[in-house]
Amino acid sequence: MDRIGFIGLGRMGRGMAGNLQRKGFNLTVFDLQAEPMRALEELGAKPAASVAELSRAADVVITMLPGPPEVEATILGPEGVLANAPSSLLVMDMSTVDPALTDRLAETLQAASRAFVDAPVGRLASHAERGESLFMVGAEEDDFARVHPLLAAMGTTIFHCGRPGTGTRTKLVNNFLAIVSCQMNAEALALTSGFGLDLETTLDVIHGTTATNGQLKINYATKVLEGDTEPGFAIDLAHKDLSLILQAANGTKVPAPIAAVARESLSLARSGGFGGKDFSALLDHWCERAGVEKLRFKSQ
Ligand code: NAD
Repeated sequence: MDRIGFIGLGRMGRGMAGNLQRKGFNLTVFDLQAEPMRALEELGAKPAASVAELSRAADVVITMLPGPPEVEATILGPEGVLANAPSSLLVMDMSTVDPALTDRLAETLQAASRAFVDAPVGRLASHAERGESLFMVGAEEDDFARVHPLLAAMGTTIFHCGRPGTGTRTKLVNNFLAIVSCQMNAEALALTSGFGLDLETTLDVIHGTTATNGQLKINYATKVLEGDTEPGFAIDLAHKDLSLILQAANGTKVPAPIAAVARESLSLARSGGFGGKDFSALLDHWCERAGVEKLRFKSQ
């Protein structure tokens, strides 16, 4: 049985690693923060003191880190995964990064006779906690078979999108729509507030037409409209993703004007102090800028 190393125990990684541990995998973990390390140790995972120590004790290393700089340094850095890995190594990066980095990781690992899989994650942190995530996987057939039991332990829905690199690209397409919808919902609901409409009735109307969307139905309904703006997915990370999306779209000469406007709307939210809040809190930011009342369900 592969020994598993998991690096990055944040809002997503903590739940994902917890599910691997509960389902009996041989797991070693590492994060810069002490608190999630303690939580995983309590579940029975082995703590590592560094990326290097973890890499020497694992055949499959999973990374779930904030973005490209952390992923590149952790996997390719002088004290990183590749420099300390056994010949059996497979790296599965599950973070949201840019396709250029994913391609570079795949090529570098292949040149070192090691395997690489990109498997970014869909759905919310609450799904990751419950083992109900969705995965978009870029992998060679053999490597897909090797990581499949791990993915099945962490989620309910697995798509093999194609060769390495296709997972990351699919994730950027998905997050383009998810994050832009979030900004559109913020503007539409700020208008609802400005008009003085009843929130519940307006939502019933929207959900009864093609205007409905998953962000409004699932994320807004369980987060900001319930008065919970603690990040499941932080505005800072959503801003990072729109920046990755624009960079990758520009690189392929596909224009994305709406993504550009949405990214700068998120820049406004960050400069207004909302960067650490959940991305549904774009609604509070937009109400604040518009000078209208924040919206909450009547039960709040
Ligand atoms: P997070 O900021 O909550 O967690 C990141 C974790 O990585 C933190 O615990 C941090 O201490 C750790 N870390 C940072 N640098 C490190 C390093 N060099 N070595 C070890 N640990 C390090 O982020 P998150 O919300 O868990 O997101 C992780 C990734 O998943 C991001 O790429 C994000 O875009 C993506 N994602 C997030 C969600 C979501 O809903 N939160 C959903 C899908 C995908």
